[in-house]
Amino acid sequence: MRKAARTHVEPVSFQTQITRDLLIAEARAWARRIGVDNRLREIHVRPMKRKWASISTRGRLSLNSDLLAQPASFRREVIVHELVHLKLGHGAHNKLFRALMRAYLEGE
Ligand SMILES: [Zn+2]
Repeated sequence: MRKAARTHVEPVSFQTQITRDLLIAEARAWARRIGVDNRLREIHVRPMKRKWASISTRGRLSLNSDLLAQPASFRREVIVHELVHLKLGHGAHNKLFRALMRAYLEGE
């Protein structure tokens, strides 16, 4: 998910930094909920210049370490975005992709 997808980033000083382990636990929990836990093979938290996160078709999820200082709602949006790509098996942001995103994020 490209960084441009988020127009306003909260100042880091106003946010509580979470640990890498918690971010990874959040991704694992969402993978179970979305039904891709068997396909999510690796999770990496690392600095990324142009993206908040990315996922390979082989199930390698990379999360930007800047997410550790972002609000829970935004971390959730980024994680769910990548895992819906894994579920659908392609990188298209089509109607089905958007419908699934809405379904998973609704009521959160
Ligand atoms: Zn995407």
